[in-house]
Amino acid sequence: MNIVIFGPPGAGKGTQSKFIVKKFNLYQLSTGDLLRNEIKNKTQLGSEISSIINSGELVSDKIVSDLIEKFISNDKYKNKIIFDGYPRNLLQAKNLDNLLINHKQKINIVLKLSVSLESVKKRILERKIQENRADDNEEVAIKRYKTYEKSSEPVINYYKQSNLVKVVNGEAKISEISTEISGLIDAIKGWL
Ligand code: AMP
Repeated sequence: MNIVIFGPPGAGKGTQSKFIVKKFNLYQLSTGDLLRNEIKNKTQLGSEISSIINSGELVSDKIVSDLIEKFISNDKYKNKIIFDGYPRNLLQAKNLDNLLINHKQKINIVLKLSVSLESVKKRILERKIQENRADDNEEVAIKRYKTYEKSSEPVINYYKQSNLVKVVNGEAKISEISTEISGLIDAIKGWL
């Protein structure tokens, strides 16, 4: 089973992905984590993308596509991926479909965590204290939320056409969200 976890920055995608990984024995593919690793390891790519990430914009589709293709083409992860932070625009969604088809896979469910801008701001400032992410400050948080509304939200309509979307209230308690997600995944597992 392949899952897309979707929602604005600070919606709890990473937290819930880690829960799903443990419970359902899957692998989290966080494009944000992969990109931050490049910056941390001071690679050539890292130096190209750090200012883009720190401004709250999206890095190029080609860069992220290359990163996720490495995952999708690896048999170890076959039908066991949670896409966290990808796709983030319509082109990426179509690219993901093509890559998966080429590797004889597909997406089985899209979990959308819905959270308001007010909560996003609050959570991002809390995360700044815990994780010290360079792009976690109020100004960039607002920018990232706007980028999400403009580029990423249309992706949901794309997946709605294939009936893959389940909306989860991202304002609930972490454990309540996990329980709801578990139920949704269990329900589709029966069909696979
Ligand atoms: P995240 O950790 O998912 O919030 O991602 C942090 C930042 O990494 C984003 O604000 C973007 O600059 C970049 N990023 C992550 N995933 C993507 C993607 N699929 N496409 C373009 N940029 C991305």
